[in-house]
Amino acid sequence: MKKLNRRAYSVLLIALFIVLGLFTYVQRYLRDGDRWASYFSRLNSLSEGYVTDRNGVLLAAFTANDNRFNEDRSTRIANYHVTGDFWDRTGTGILTGFSRQLHSYSPITGMTQTKTVSLQLNVDSELNKKAYAALAERKGAVGVVNYRTGELICMVSSPAVDPTDNDPVAPEGVYINRLLSASFVPGSIFKLITAAAAIECVPTIWQRSFFCEGEEEIGGVLFHCPFEHYTNDFAGALANSCNIAFAKIAISVGQTEMVNHVRAYGFLDSHNLDGIPTAAGSYPIEFVGDPETGWSGIGQSTDLICPYSMLRFVSAIANDGLLAEPKLINDGQPTEKSILVNPETAKTMQQLMRNNVVTVYGDNRFPGLSVCGKTGTAEVGDGTDHAWFTGFLQDEEHPYAFIVFVEGGGGGLSVAVPIANTVLQAAVRRGTELDYS
Ligand SMILES: [Zn+2]
Repeated sequence: MKKLNRRAYSVLLIALFIVLGLFTYVQRYLRDGDRWASYFSRLNSLSEGYVTDRNGVLLAAFTANDNRFNEDRSTRIANYHVTGDFWDRTGTGILTGFSRQLHSYSPITGMTQTKTVSLQLNVDSELNKKAYAALAERKGAVGVVNYRTGELICMVSSPAVDPTDNDPVAPEGVYINRLLSASFVPGSIFKLITAAAAIECVPTIWQRSFFCEGEEEIGGVLFHCPFEHYTNDFAGALANSCNIAFAKIAISVGQTEMVNHVRAYGFLDSHNLDGIPTAAGSYPIEFVGDPETGWSGIGQSTDLICPYSMLRFVSAIANDGLLAEPKLINDGQPTEKSILVNPETAKTMQQLMRNNVVTVYGDNRFPGLSVCGKTGTAEVGDGTDHAWFTGFLQDEEHPYAFIVFVEGGGGGLSVAVPIANTVLQAAVRRGTELDYS
């Protein structure tokens, strides 16, 4: 009897292992089956896939016998974080995120089907080349979106590698898409969020006057400005990016309302760019007291921002508060639209951001363009600064919102602004020539 019992147990145990194994297999099959199929694609694939940019330029392709990329090496490198590679080394690449669609894989048959699949993107690969060249091998990112339609016409992360090179000499962090997949200290571009919150929460903001002698103790902590800004009103404080004024403004808004606005504008969330998840940011949400609220209101403290989230925010401001959700893929589906910023606040922010350029940065930095923007020079703590510039064009023919970020790059005005000008000039020229609207 004892013997029989032991046998029964053994059989049960074996059955359990088989069920467990089968369960694991089915689970992994459903998850990875398309990759298994595409792994053997050279042997059995009947499908062909083509990824093109908005102008029909071939960026990546595979057929029964080979994987291909654009023939021009600098096009391949500049568009690396858009296409990805056939080794899945960067998480945001089309070849990784859309392999199922591209291979027209069927989980029922476990095979790819006889089908030619084309995926057209909204990015302009030539504009990406210009942006990548402007970043000049520095770590950073550039994003440009049409704020009326949501078309993402430029997405570049630097440095990048050639996707045809299976063993590249890869600089550190090369596989991270710095536009989508990481968050950074924002510095003064954060003052856009503080300003929007102040417009809604501090009724006296337009009557206030701010005095700055380069440093001041606020709540027992010494705040510094790079310059003595002397007397400024609200618009002047934003244009001159006065830390002392904006620390006080954030304290007037109060931590609770600051958190509400940061959250409502989507800075704490991961977003979804046609299925590609983006990085969430951070902001002090536990009680921190006045001095820290002051620091967080000028983009320091524990603030971290994903460049993509800021691109969404300025895009909504440019479009009177209505966000046209950015789209990487031109799939013919209508763009999702939703109010991200109160329309009245957005229109006021447009005027403030235009005033920044007219009164402080200088229109002569952007010949022929009407730019609204905000610079940022973010102290990282290791002695280096991140250079930022974000904003949009006031131009119905070329409704482009943009963000430029250079990691450890230095000053926003001296480093990020010239890159933005190069990219925007190219975007406007190509938008006119190729009729983007
Ligand atoms: Zn100041």
